Amino acid sequence: MELIKTELTPKERLTRYARGEEVDRIPTTLSASETIPVLYGISIHDYYFSADLMVEVESRLAEDFGADNMGVGLGLRTVAEALGTQMHYSDNSVAYITQPAIQDYSQLDSMELINVERDGRLPIILEALGRLQDKFGQERSISTGMAGPLTTACALVGTDRFLKDCIKHPDQVKKLMEYSTACIIACARGIHDKLGISCGLSEPMASANLISRKQFQRWVQPYLKQIVQEFETFQSTPSIHICGKTNDRWADVLDCGISSFWVDNCESLEALKQFAGDKIGISGNVSPVDILRDGTPESIAQEVRRCIREASDSPNGYTLCPGCTTPVGTPRENLIALMNAAYTYGRGAKKGQMCRGIEEA
Ligand SMILES: [Zn+2]
Repeated sequence: MELIKTELTPKERLTRYARGEEVDRIPTTLSASETIPVLYGISIHDYYFSADLMVEVESRLAEDFGADNMGVGLGLRTVAEALGTQMHYSDNSVAYITQPAIQDYSQLDSMELINVERDGRLPIILEALGRLQDKFGQERSISTGMAGPLTTACALVGTDRFLKDCIKHPDQVKKLMEYSTACIIACARGIHDKLGISCGLSEPMASANLISRKQFQRWVQPYLKQIVQEFETFQSTPSIHICGKTNDRWADVLDCGISSFWVDNCESLEALKQFAGDKIGISGNVSPVDILRDGTPESIAQEVRRCIREASDSPNGYTLCPGCTTPVGTPRENLIALMNAAYTYGRGAKKGQMCRGIEEA
């Protein structure tokens, strides 16, 4: 299958779409960075430690699929790693935690704020982002993303321990959340000061599959709200992604002031549009594993059509993308099928209006 060529550059498309103009196709992003090096025969381990490989992967993704996003994300653990959490890296899968940074909460008293020019893999990622900016900045918007306050806190102390200590040692957990929040703000500010690049947030630990709405209101909402307010003093309002079930807390997520919400495929895009489409942008939710990785070009096209039909007339705009990270092992053909279906069904996209491609295809 050949990729259909589009008329506009990603930057032209996103700028015009944001202004409320009609564009060639619905904005489409791939949510693929640390999971995709294997597609190009590159070890994920090597990718994590090489700005050259990061730039190569992003360049080849742009060439092969022409999605609207570009940039190296910090993933879910880079901030925690930079603060002392130890990781295991392997060639064919995403890195995981072997030892959390914090064994005793008293460590928090002497831990410094994150420094993007010094800590962990951040200097490598900054180098890659800067080079992408130089190479593609004319036609593409370069962005990055990082874990939210709860996911970062869990990576600093260990998830099981965090959840236990919420009940046993709430004062210590509060201190940890304040530190996690301060480091996220310092990290995004550091990246923006150096490169002018904005950062979005992913908060998988805030899913209803893992914590109750009450826990969300206590341990996520105030910190997320503070992060959004602080981010707005130096970058654009951040978007957020939360994995899995989320609909019982959509009102709380919205209350944090985020610019858009990227929803997983177990939730209804149609329902999210009804609930929040007049206030924020929405994105999602092509089934990442069953359809994007394991499906056929035909099932992918049907899924893309479903998403565009449900969400493309959302008043503040819609971005087509997988419901979560593009899984390791997703075939090249399937990503081309996604992009081509986005072009076919998502032609003539404008905020608040059903894509013309839905009627015409
Ligand atoms: Zn997710």
